[in-house]
Amino acid sequence: MDFDLSPELRMWRDAVHKFVAQEIKPHAAEYNERAETMWPAIQKGGEQLGLLGMLVPEAYGGSEMDTLAFAIAIEELGWGDGGTGLVIAAHNGLGCSPIVMFGTEEQKKRFLSRVITGQPGRLAALALTEPDAGSDLKGVKTRAELVGNEWVINGSKMWITNSGDADYIVTLLRTAPERSSHSLSLIVVPTNTPGLHIGPPEKKMGLGTTHSHAITYENVRVPRENLLGTAGQGMYQTLQVLDGGRISIGALSVGIAQAAFEEAVAYAKQRIAFGKPIAARQAIQFMLADMATEIHAARLMVYHAAWLKQEGKPFTHAAAMAKLFASEMAERVTRNAIQIHGGYGYSREYPVERMYRDTRLMTIGEGTSEIQRMVIARRVLSSMASLF
Ligand SMILES: Cc1cc2nc3c(=O)[nH]c(=O)nc-3n(C[C@H](O)[C@H](O)[C@H](O)COP(=O)(O)OP(=O)(O)OC[C@H]3O[C@@H](n4cnc5c(N)ncnc54)[C@H](O)[C@@H]3O)c2cc1C
Repeated sequence: MDFDLSPELRMWRDAVHKFVAQEIKPHAAEYNERAETMWPAIQKGGEQLGLLGMLVPEAYGGSEMDTLAFAIAIEELGWGDGGTGLVIAAHNGLGCSPIVMFGTEEQKKRFLSRVITGQPGRLAALALTEPDAGSDLKGVKTRAELVGNEWVINGSKMWITNSGDADYIVTLLRTAPERSSHSLSLIVVPTNTPGLHIGPPEKKMGLGTTHSHAITYENVRVPRENLLGTAGQGMYQTLQVLDGGRISIGALSVGIAQAAFEEAVAYAKQRIAFGKPIAARQAIQFMLADMATEIHAARLMVYHAAWLKQEGKPFTHAAAMAKLFASEMAERVTRNAIQIHGGYGYSREYPVERMYRDTRLMTIGEGTSEIQRMVIARRVLSSMASLF
């Protein structure tokens, strides 16, 4: 058993950390205040580090990293800015992954090579959620009917990250009339297709540098060959994509928590109360000790789930546990980082309030905490065999 990162992974982590420290972290406050995507950093990250094609095979222009390297990059991005981390995590994990995993050679060539550069309008998105269906995707109503050699799509989606700047949107929809999970499919919809309407950005609590939109499909016609895999496999494919996505939301949570922890330590050392730095008080020390311990535990869980995935071992419950623990941990850590800052922590002049708002999504997106607990409980109850 070896807990050390390999020299290559350490170099990768240091390179991403340096990039984020220079290009993202110093600008996070102003971009979030303006609710603006950090395009200069996203483009540079695409060109210099291949951050937009991390899971895409080299054959299609990607940087083809393993899951651990991907998780480490997302953690570092989260340390710099949660919103920019989410843009890149959703692009790679939700937008590119379904095509990497289920696309034909022709689909990979056609779609992936267009979205790995980090140009505005060249992101990838995955549209699952609808106004009446989120956790329970069996309720998806958006439908596609095969007319000649085209799918004709009608319906609506909401909360779709990156869709306003996407080249294509992989869409979960119903390709057969019955309301069963076997009637769902994934179809790639290019965003320049007539009849696809993308609404304004949703007004959110945090994550100002990432945008999510409602979408309507009005007689949207795409070629028959835009179907991923076989019709009726959409639910099964989506669950596999989400298993991987949960590792990246766990990693993002660890990165945001780490950033809040560092702010709390620095503040505790310099803030004087009752004649001493507050870091000299045991109540503050215990908060910091708990934060460090929980971040460490979450990081190990995220890395372990990533390792299981890249080793080809079962990882569904490990990813659910990592996402559940890391996202709830990040909420506690950012909450206590504000507590340590006192009144200043509640001010927009200090970054911890933004981090607190950013973490709030992590227990909701890509499966709520309740859904993670359902996944874990199913595994725990189905077998007496050891979990790992
Ligand atoms: C900023 C942001 C970005 C997003 N990006 C995307 C995206 O890119 N693509 C996409 O498709 N979606 C996206 N989403 C949607 C997100 O995945 C959903 O909001 C999430 O899956 C929850 O679905 P819901 O909102 O419909 O809540 P619901 O499913 O209605 O759940 C409401 C509450 O009920 C609980 N609940 C539901 N069922 C059960 C049960 N059986 N047992 C116990 N509790 C239950 C839930 O845990 C939750 O607490 C995004 C959301 C946000 C806020």
